Amino acid sequence: MKYRNKKDYLLGKDSTELEEFAIQFGEPAFRGRQLYCWLYTKRAANFSSMTDLARSFRERLTEDTLISPVKVLTEEYGSDGSCKLLFGLPDGNRVEGVLIPDNERLTACLSSQVGCAIGCKFCATGKIGFKRNLSASEIVGQFIALETAANQRITNVVMMGMGEPLLNRSAVFKAARLITDPDGLGVSRRRFCISTVGWTPGILAMCKSNMRFKLTVSLNGTTDEQRNSLMRFTKRFPLLDVLKAAEKYVHIAKQRVTFTYLLLNGFNDSLEDAHRLIKLVKHIPCKVNLMEYNEIGSEFHQSDKKQTEDFQSVLRSAGLTAIIRTSRGEDIAAACGQLAGGYETNTGK
Ligand code: SF4
Repeated sequence: MKYRNKKDYLLGKDSTELEEFAIQFGEPAFRGRQLYCWLYTKRAANFSSMTDLARSFRERLTEDTLISPVKVLTEEYGSDGSCKLLFGLPDGNRVEGVLIPDNERLTACLSSQVGCAIGCKFCATGKIGFKRNLSASEIVGQFIALETAANQRITNVVMMGMGEPLLNRSAVFKAARLITDPDGLGVSRRRFCISTVGWTPGILAMCKSNMRFKLTVSLNGTTDEQRNSLMRFTKRFPLLDVLKAAEKYVHIAKQRVTFTYLLLNGFNDSLEDAHRLIKLVKHIPCKVNLMEYNEIGSEFHQSDKKQTEDFQSVLRSAGLTAIIRTSRGEDIAAACGQLAGGYETNTGK
């Protein structure tokens, strides 16, 4: 499904931009702040509910603007309660977002790009190739659409959907600020996670900014050779540089970093790998998430249960916090590495 229009989108604009927007419409600046409250604090889905705005202003807004650029094309529900939404964008592109309920917690997994340039060999998104960056409006639009589908407040956000978030920093950082504004959408900064394959300039940019979001770095290998053979472009960023940048962020943000490690049978799951991993990260305040691989028809296979547990035991015996993360949403192709946005990929999904 494709839809096009030339209207301006309001989601993704911050309070200053909405004030300027109101002034352009001949309204006082405070109308922009009211609009901010309707869009974010109250999650208004239409202009007619914005009852403290003048009728003439609401009519102009209806004529000239749309609230969100994101349209829900399909919803799929997994047997474990997870939910995957396929979103249509104004130019006809598509991305996916996922909801993962877990007791009191409701996590939204958002996409940052259409496709991805990194091209990780184990990932369905990587097989699409890079199409374009998403705007802040399209990222916040996913958040609102997922929350509407859940009919419940989202407590946690992970930028782990389609794309490498640190290759789309300005839009991702802007969306992150909006989603974590306590006077707006209100997700805690400590519950907003930016996940990267180790794009070092992006991690260093996070160090320089005043934003203190959670950082997750996907290692997926204990040598540069392993990483290079899994993830394109990592040659530019040797493992030791990635770890140095992550350590710098830990000290600046005063919070632990999470390292994710995708266990691939016979590739990176040996006990020697576990010992190398300990040497690499032991001095960094961190936790290690050991990820089960979701098969997508690539050359890689999931590590068996015993190997995974042995790997975890080695890390734990060295004092590391190591948690085995089981897949959520696997039956609806919503788990890590399975998002394909409805595009044809050579995975056959
Ligand atoms: S794992 Fe992340 S960085 Fe790698 S191809 Fe998939 S979306 Fe891109």
